[in-house]
Amino acid sequence: MEANVCSVPMKVGFPLPEKVSRESWPGGTIVRVKETELGGKGIVVIAGPCAVESREQLFATARSVMAGGAKILRGGAFKPRSSPYNFQGLGEEGLKLLREVSSDTGLPVVTEVMDTRQIELVSQYADILQIGSRNMQNYPLLKEAGMSRKPVLLKRGMMATIEEYLLAAEYILNQGNDKVILCERGIRTFETSTRNTLDLSAVPMLKQLTHLPVIVDPSHGTGLRWMVPSMAKAAIAAGADGLIMEVHNDPEQALCDGQQSLSLDEFSLLMTELRKIAIAVDRMIL
Ligand code: PEP
Ligand code: MN
Repeated sequence: MEANVCSVPMKVGFPLPEKVSRESWPGGTIVRVKETELGGKGIVVIAGPCAVESREQLFATARSVMAGGAKILRGGAFKPRSSPYNFQGLGEEGLKLLREVSSDTGLPVVTEVMDTRQIELVSQYADILQIGSRNMQNYPLLKEAGMSRKPVLLKRGMMATIEEYLLAAEYILNQGNDKVILCERGIRTFETSTRNTLDLSAVPMLKQLTHLPVIVDPSHGTGLRWMVPSMAKAAIAAGADGLIMEVHNDPEQALCDGQQSLSLDEFSLLMTELRKIAIAVDRMIL
């Protein structure tokens, strides 16, 4: 039993969906991705660019984050951009680059799938399917991802309550896929000084209510590079099982989310600090 998880089921003001409920699997689910386990004592760091832009960018970033201790590489090939005029991602070309870098480094890769029609294609290249915040309530997509048998990184909808979030995860589990990783990535509030309001209270809440691993995305959660280290440390202190962070070999030139991407040096420095926080809460960075 994990330190923060009390054995008495907590009462919340809504019925807990059956399959995601911690009661259905009190010891906690461990999601295995190649040799890496999410949801155990070890904390997993996922890092990489917001979007795959080129072979050079991806290789440089992947090699560096791996040296710093990241265990999984992130990188979007299909990007959900607010403006249709912004860079939309390299599509299948980006998926191929992710696979190539994965073979070279041994790092498993996570990338977003935005549409049911992309699941088959993305599954050929990715180790984890990411369902983004904007698609958390895309029920056909949740069902298809549930049928795919790949681990699914389900990000919290930017306007979703915890109840809605757990119900979305239940859709995936209902199809027989219990390899679901939850990710708090910030919600919309009245606050405008940060891109989103990172709801770190969601971490202990989700750890109480569900057996699924919970990770935090301080990059989208704040939208501010300088704030990412503080929130990453706080996430680990709050009991997160991992972090997903945007890192770029040249953030100023990034085609997407450069303002919230750590440089390679910033990432490796942060990793040394995160190791200390992990030890303080009786865990370790894998
Ligand atoms: C991302 O991780 O690339 C992303 C678009 O995040 P979110 O869905 O949380 O906005
Ligand atoms: Mn991004």
